[in-house]
Amino acid sequence: MTNPDVAQADDLLEALIAGTCPDAHGRFGEFGGCYVPETLMPAVTRLAEGVHHYLRDPDFRARLNDELEHWVGRPTALTHAPGLSALWGADVWLKREDLAHTGAHKINNTIGQALLAQALGAERIVAETGAGQHGVASAAACARIGLPCVVYMGAVDVARQALNVDRMRRLGAEVIAVESGDQTLRAAIDEAIRDWVSDPVATYYLLGSAIGPHPYPYLVRELQSVIGKEARAQIIARSGSLPDAAFACVGGGSNAIGLYHGFLGDRDVALFGIEAGGHGPALGEHSATLSAGKPGVLHGTYSVLLYDSDGQIQETHSVSAGLDYPGVGPEHALLRQIGRVDYRTATDDEALAALDECCAAEGILPALESAHALAGARRWASENPGTKILIGMSGRGDKDMPILAEHPVGSSTQSEDARNAAA
Ligand SMILES: *Cc1c(COP(=O)(O)O)cnc(C)c1O
Repeated sequence: MTNPDVAQADDLLEALIAGTCPDAHGRFGEFGGCYVPETLMPAVTRLAEGVHHYLRDPDFRARLNDELEHWVGRPTALTHAPGLSALWGADVWLKREDLAHTGAHKINNTIGQALLAQALGAERIVAETGAGQHGVASAAACARIGLPCVVYMGAVDVARQALNVDRMRRLGAEVIAVESGDQTLRAAIDEAIRDWVSDPVATYYLLGSAIGPHPYPYLVRELQSVIGKEARAQIIARSGSLPDAAFACVGGGSNAIGLYHGFLGDRDVALFGIEAGGHGPALGEHSATLSAGKPGVLHGTYSVLLYDSDGQIQETHSVSAGLDYPGVGPEHALLRQIGRVDYRTATDDEALAALDECCAAEGILPALESAHALAGARRWASENPGTKILIGMSGRGDKDMPILAEHPVGSSTQSEDARNAAA
């Protein structure tokens, strides 16, 4: 990985803003691309052509917008946060993807791809899921569109996430427990791809984040950009100007890339991505791919990932299952390289403290993933008093209650500090 000089970095940012990046090969600068077996090339090429056609098709866009408005519940609110503002000495605004149908931003992507699958003539949909949130959003979208849905889920995750497995089944999906490999998300993705290869015309693979081979990182970004577009218009209308900074949590990177795309051209808006710092910086103790990873290929794309000196993909850890992935979307690798987005981490403990604080101050229970964005913003606010801050609330925390039960309110050292500071 060579770092582009200032002029090159500026050209790449201009291309992202103008919509000419990724290029026709799905390259975000040196990142991205399409690393798939020969047998999958026709399916991927067909998908890229379909994406190119339908995302520009007025009838398709009208159908999608109708579903976003009347089924998903868009636009989602922009909520002023007076309690957090007072605690942090900042002006804090929350973009409420937690209010979207099924409780997170994931539905923006799944309804868009389900409609695309239907337009392309697919007869069934396969999806992968880790904690089950993407599986639930996929099952819901497929039920809505009327397409059968098969969700691959690692056997370990099936055991850990019984509630989401039941939700998927009630929404009509078939959930297949993957017993191979690490029996978690990585094995589930491998299995979904294997299914897709076996019948790439009738089967559509509904990928859950801005990762994977071209055209997925581009497709998912376009479908999630609605977050940033709405947020930009809303914050100007409500507060009279742009924020000083915007924060989003980064797992695969879909809610973050969607938020950033509202503001990439606003160079005075500092953009931050908050990754899962887990228990700390030791390898295996976190999922901070951009902060600690190296370039490499995973799941069909050249990006940044966590692997050891033997090239083995690392185990990851985060208290939030949705951030627990050893890779990240290629566009984020570029945004970090050209310096447009600053990627930082929040630990499990910081995220738990921020979650408690948001509950108490705003009456909003955020997802543990979103709590990382809150924690990153909170730290930045303490270094930049008086600033206006936009935070992407990627989802709601109801799904996290079993994990939160292990962390009673006030049990993290961080929240004691917060309480003392507020007292
Ligand atoms: C899945 C999930 C994430 C992480 O996915 P991204 O693709 O990085 O956005 C973040 N927040 C919530 C609530 C999620 O469900």
